Amino acid sequence: MFHANENYLKLPGSYLFSTIARKVNEFSQANPDKEIIRLGIGDVTQPLAPAIVKALHDAVDEMADASTFKGYAPDLGYDFLRKTICENDYKARGCDITEDEIFVSDGAKSDSGNIQELFMPGDRIAVCDPVYPVYVDSNVMAGRCGDYNKDTETWSNVIYMPTTMENGFVPEFPKETPDIIYLCLPNNPTGTTLTKTQLQEWVDYANKNNAVIIYDAAYEAYISEDNVAHSIYECDGARTCAIEIRSFSKNAGFTGVRLGFTVVPKDLKSKDGVSMRDLWARRHGTKFNGAPYIQQKAGEAVYSEEGKKQLREQVAYYMKNAAAIKNGLKDAGFTVFGGVNAPYIWMKTPDKMSSWDFFDYLLEKANVVGTPGSGFGPSGEGYFRLTAFGSYENTLAALERIKKL
Ligand SMILES: *Cc1c(COP(=O)(O)O)cnc(C)c1O
Repeated sequence: MFHANENYLKLPGSYLFSTIARKVNEFSQANPDKEIIRLGIGDVTQPLAPAIVKALHDAVDEMADASTFKGYAPDLGYDFLRKTICENDYKARGCDITEDEIFVSDGAKSDSGNIQELFMPGDRIAVCDPVYPVYVDSNVMAGRCGDYNKDTETWSNVIYMPTTMENGFVPEFPKETPDIIYLCLPNNPTGTTLTKTQLQEWVDYANKNNAVIIYDAAYEAYISEDNVAHSIYECDGARTCAIEIRSFSKNAGFTGVRLGFTVVPKDLKSKDGVSMRDLWARRHGTKFNGAPYIQQKAGEAVYSEEGKKQLREQVAYYMKNAAAIKNGLKDAGFTVFGGVNAPYIWMKTPDKMSSWDFFDYLLEKANVVGTPGSGFGPSGEGYFRLTAFGSYENTLAALERIKKL
């Protein structure tokens, strides 16, 4: 008789977005005449840019021709893409990263969930609270988080670093020393980020404590302020303490195309001197057969002159929504954060309402869907997330409704 992995059975309740979908479904069935505007889920809505579409078509044509057909991709990624990434995302920003430290994958969700396999089950993780749910859940599945406390909604073996209005959404160094520190900057869900100076302090802290930082930079393309680092490798000493995860989903609309990459520098060594880069290469070789050629050609087009121009426009479109939401909510008297270096607006719920009460209120009274902050962790209680990924028209319409509440 086989046994289910008991670590999986420890995971509480249903996934946040399934609960939201159920509630929205129930509401729309009961109120078929009401038009619902969704500013909840973090998925893009703009179609793929022309430069990307062309690269996809061209790659398909190559696959249809016997002389250019491609089978399995190299499991670490095609050289043309690793080289392009290295030049544009790293060398151009003065980061000391080489092509063979870049691992192409099918996206940042897989990489951020899988990367924990490189560490021992007893290693302790620290996460910001609120947090992108993948970090903790993937460690729970690996048996690294201890037991779940239903009342506090926390795991006994996870170090939580609250990021709230009170500390300006800047995580403080924890009292207990973690082995693995997850940082998502610019942040999902709060839409806030750290300055380069603040990030440097975290790099110094990690080096001093022999900890590794897993740096999720999925929203790098949305950075608008000069004092914010686009890569953790802009900080001195990051090569010995940081792994960086990137995605093509949010900067280039690849949520349905699937492509991402992870950087593991050769200087990142465990306590026993093991190269984490070599371990990740081993893992890729064993469990991954390479991102598809067609997707990698599309990824290359992201860095072409045309691609860059078209994607800057796409990002600007979403950030115009972000500014509209932020300013509109401010004018309506709400307290709002984020929206400057990320497509997320993090608002305080009015009148000390709980996150879920505000969710219901907004759905019933304005027919607008957002995401309850408490779904991202206990310190998210009393906050609410709106995303800038809708259409401009819908975003403005949603704001009009919210202002009338
Ligand atoms: C959207 C998102 C990802 C997922 O990216 P994919 O490349 O689509 O898997 C990763 N991290 C964060 C914080 C995200 O919001």
